[in-house]
Amino acid sequence: MLKERFDLTGKVALVTGGSKGLGKEMARILVEAGAQVVICSRNEDELSAAVEDIASGDSNKIVYEVCDLSQRENVDLLAKAAVGHFGKIDILVNNAGSNCPQPIDEIKDEDWDRIMELNLGNIMRLTRALVPAMKERRWGRIIHLSSVLGLGGKEGRGIYSSSKAGILGLTYATALDLGPYNVTVNSIAPGPFLTDLPKSLLNAEQQQGFSDRTALGRWGNPDEIAGPVLLLASDAGSYITGTCLTVDGGVMARVL
Ligand code: NAP
Repeated sequence: MLKERFDLTGKVALVTGGSKGLGKEMARILVEAGAQVVICSRNEDELSAAVEDIASGDSNKIVYEVCDLSQRENVDLLAKAAVGHFGKIDILVNNAGSNCPQPIDEIKDEDWDRIMELNLGNIMRLTRALVPAMKERRWGRIIHLSSVLGLGGKEGRGIYSSSKAGILGLTYATALDLGPYNVTVNSIAPGPFLTDLPKSLLNAEQQQGFSDRTALGRWGNPDEIAGPVLLLASDAGSYITGTCLTVDGGVMARVL
């Protein structure tokens, strides 16, 4: 049955950075599909508002943890707290991420280290913490948010592109580690989605330039990430592993 293929009743998901943007829309579809969901970010007011918006504050459906994932010592604490809510994590969506544009000859070590820690190192650490129980249960879904800037580049995006390309390597190798345990590992590479992240970095002219590079001629709406993540999280996507799904309005179709 169509509904059963996408049904997540009895599953528990952790969506990092689930307070807004793409993370919030991914948390919403996972709740709609029947999963219990834990979201986290650094801003408690936004987390609380997201829980209210997604499920009218129903704590049997969605709860939050305040956590700064740029600090590696917080990662194991988050994993433990997240498992504490509903007893397990079956679906891990490593979505929290940030950007810090600097051309190569201006990259500051502290910015490189901070973005790499948040966008790559702590994704590995959170996955490492949650994988043993998935292996034991012989069911798991790991979904990392990469970017079209992990598949190609852009001026001034050396730190971000390096972190997002690193996620792809982590995806391939981890899929092979975990395949024998029925745990799938995939990345999603979004193109331009109009969330706070690009809004904080791009002026109106630059925003127009981004939409012009898509085949569809527009920015993605954050809720257009929902279908792809549900596919990868559910039994409908049970034979998809070790790959990167571009959700980019056709950006990567263009070579010139
Ligand atoms: P967003 O609207 O800025 O949301 C980012 C989320 O991550 C927020 O919940 C944010 O909450 C959280 N976050 C940021 N730093 C954090 C930290 N140190 N600790 C814990 N949580 C943190 O961004 P988005 O556009 O939805 O991006 C989501 C993911 O998609 C990112 O990995 C991004 O690189 C990727 N992506 C986005 C686009 C796009 O066009 N939007 C394109 C390609 C890839 P707080 O800041 O309150 O902590």
